[in-house]
Parts: sequence; structure tokens; C-alpha cells
Amino acid sequence: MGNYTLPDMPYDYAALEPAITGEILELHHAKHHAAYVKGANDTLERLAEARDKSEYGGLVGLEKTFAFHLSGHVLHSIFWENLSPDGGDRPDGELRAAIDEHFGSFEALQKQLSTATSTVQGSGWGVLAWEPLSRRLIVEQIYDHHGNVGLNTTPVLVFDAWEHAYYLQYRNVRPDYVDKLWGLVNWDDVSRRFAEASKVH
Ligand code: MN
Repeated sequence: MGNYTLPDMPYDYAALEPAITGEILELHHAKHHAAYVKGANDTLERLAEARDKSEYGGLVGLEKTFAFHLSGHVLHSIFWENLSPDGGDRPDGELRAAIDEHFGSFEALQKQLSTATSTVQGSGWGVLAWEPLSRRLIVEQIYDHHGNVGLNTTPVLVFDAWEHAYYLQYRNVRPDYVDKLWGLVNWDDVSRRFAEASKVH
């Protein structure tokens, strides 16, 4: 039995059109995200086999593979919920106040996160995250699903910058796709994640 499961989408595949086509969203969820879930489960099984046999010759590769797939599963699970056909506009309340305090303005956050997402070299993510040591929001530019991350941060808003997220529709113009993402952001979901993260840490 698997330890991780593919979550249902919170909306239909075509619900985010025209910003993101139903074709992209279906492939992204049913193929790419599903592959990360399977990869995490398969790697856990191989780690269990390694323990059973006490054969750890492949451990370095297994640990790397597990981190990749688990992080892919986590980020995509957040990504679907961060977006909504009714999204867009701007955050308010405590999240808005924290953004103003930690970035200067919503526009400054928008520019930094857009740039972080648009300029990832190769595959990766732009992420707004809660950083508990300094108790502030930060932007992270993640490589693959897990590189370049400050440990112990909690993602609250994630933008997928992998080519599979936009290439069928936006071709090589990643910044146009990122601009459209802002019109889909479900700020209620981001606010809930921010409130929970800043309450725990
Ligand atoms: Mn993706």
C-alpha cells in the first residue's frame, strides 16, 4: 500500500482557462504530479528493501530520488489549491500587512516573486514562504523541487516554473505565463497557509 496519494483537483481541468488550458492541467495533474506520487512510494519501497537486505550500496541515489519525488508531490499539492477560477485581486488582512512589512509593498513582492519564477535556470519554482527563525515572509527560488531551499521554511504560495506547466500554451515566453498566474491566485488559501505557518512557528 502506498504512503502517498494523488489528491483530487479542487476544480475541473478546464476551469482555469484561458490562463491555463485544460490540456496542460490534465497532463500536469494526471501524468506529472501522479509520477511524483508514484516515485515517492516506489522509492520508499526500495528503501525498505535495502533495510531488509541491509544493502545500502544504492542509498545515495535513493535518498536523492526520494527528496525529488516527495518535494514534487508536496509542491504540486499546494499549487492546485493556491489557484482558483475565482482567484486574482490582492490579499488583505494580516497577510497583506505582513507582505507590506516584509517586502515594502504588494507590488514589490509581485515583482520579486515573478522574477524568481521567470528566471529559474532549468526547472524549478518561485515560492513565497514563511521563515520561522526571523518570523518573516521570504521569496525562494527553488531548483527542481527541492534545491536552493532554506530548511524549515513553509511554502504558502508556489508558482511552477517547469516547462510542463506552460510550454504547450506559452512556448518559450515564461514571463507571460507568470503574469497570468497572478490572476488565478486564491488568496483565501494563501492566507490560511500563512496563518497556520506563523501560528505554529
Ligand atoms: Mn509541475
